[in-house]
Amino acid sequence: MARIHCSVNNCHYWAKNNICNASEVLITSDALGEAEPDEVDAPQAQMLQATPVDSCMSTCCKTFVEQGSAKKKQDGVTRNPY
Ligand code: SF4
Repeated sequence: MARIHCSVNNCHYWAKNNICNASEVLITSDALGEAEPDEVDAPQAQMLQATPVDSCMSTCCKTFVEQGSAKKKQDGVTRNPY
């Protein structure tokens, strides 16, 4: 997977030097991110319809999980070991 740089350092998948260590991520529109439950994430991406937006301000990382949250076990995404 391409290296993803991310500054959201309270995410479970965040690592030093602003690296995302998630096995996969789902970037989508804010609207879909709000509408779909936590169980819908990168492993289900091929089943989702395309969600065009007008600017980067309308996108989100749906894979974000706050550090310490139990939510990370629901979506099938794992943290890489490095
Ligand atoms: S899952 Fe999303 S919010 Fe979390 S570190 Fe990766 S890119 Fe950032």
